[in-house]
Amino acid sequence: MNKKIFITREIPEKGLNMLRAKGYEVDVFHKNESIGKKRLIQALKRKNYDAVLCLLTDHIDADIFDSAPTVKLYANYATGFDNIDVSSAFARGITITNAPTEASCEAVAEHAIALMLALANKIVEADDFVRQKKYKGWSPMNFVGTNIFGKTFGLIGAGRIGERTAHYAKALGLEIIYSDTRVNDRLESLYGARRVASVEELLGSADVVSIHVPLLPSTRHLIGEAEFRKMKPTAFLINTSRGPVIDEKALVRALQEKQIAGAGLDVFEFEPKLAPGLSRLKNVILTPHIASASIEAREEMAERSAKAIIDFFDGRVPETIVQK
Ligand code: NAD
Repeated sequence: MNKKIFITREIPEKGLNMLRAKGYEVDVFHKNESIGKKRLIQALKRKNYDAVLCLLTDHIDADIFDSAPTVKLYANYATGFDNIDVSSAFARGITITNAPTEASCEAVAEHAIALMLALANKIVEADDFVRQKKYKGWSPMNFVGTNIFGKTFGLIGAGRIGERTAHYAKALGLEIIYSDTRVNDRLESLYGARRVASVEELLGSADVVSIHVPLLPSTRHLIGEAEFRKMKPTAFLINTSRGPVIDEKALVRALQEKQIAGAGLDVFEFEPKLAPGLSRLKNVILTPHIASASIEAREEMAERSAKAIIDFFDGRVPETIVQK
């Protein structure tokens, strides 16, 4: 019998076509907005679906699993899978896959570097100044930024994306240090990266701190009030991982009190909401969780998610299976 797949929001056609070519029945939530828990449960009750292709904006928990007992696989269209209650899934024998891809690694790393360069060169502030017709002629002290060449780049989390970010940072002449629970030999041999003993040590030495850890109980609020006190007042903090890794209220205070020089954020603790005061600060650049939003990345993510579903139903172990 044909497999029935429910997709919680429109994704690139490439992925949908792969599923349709297998003869699967594919239903896509028709509105271009997050489906939400109530509507997802209603949709899953309409048919005996075999798999769900879900997004990072869907909170997939025990209530969802129990409302759709025929669904054996949730394929998350994202690298992270902190939106899924993985232990409840495993307890029910449900398989979870994610969708890390080369192109999304590149996209996120490029975005992290773009935020760093935009902060160092005050690009966003200066653009706004020109648009507001405040530019009355060249001045030696207008928007004086900082060079990043020769500075120290501190990676927190040196996995796929962290490593790619280090590649670009090294090419720009930064020295790389990193903090990770695991040694990354390739990072050390290719980019001369030095592993530091703790996040605290990294924060005290880095001119740019770029975060690339998954959201886990151990990484929630990894950076908070105490950590900001350890950072250099000239340092920039970049976060393209997950918002709750930073205590956002403490970040606002640190930026207001100039404990650090600036922050570039693609993700937010309670997104899409921002901590009070964050958007009023000039020393912060905010992007709406778009670090992996390149056409290359989005298409590869759709293919990866579709392939995971096809592999699963063809009896192969999906390459991107989330391990117990
Ligand atoms: P990865 O699993 O390859 O790397 C994560 C690294 O973090 C690993 O090396 C791991 O050992 C390390 N780590 C775990 N806990 C740590 C800790 N407490 N301290 C230091 N290091 C720790 O993952 P990845 O593919 O590099 O992705 C990283 C994260 O980026 C994802 O989990 C996801 O949340 C986020 N992401 C965001 C976007 C976006 O659009 N902004 C896109 C893709 C991924």
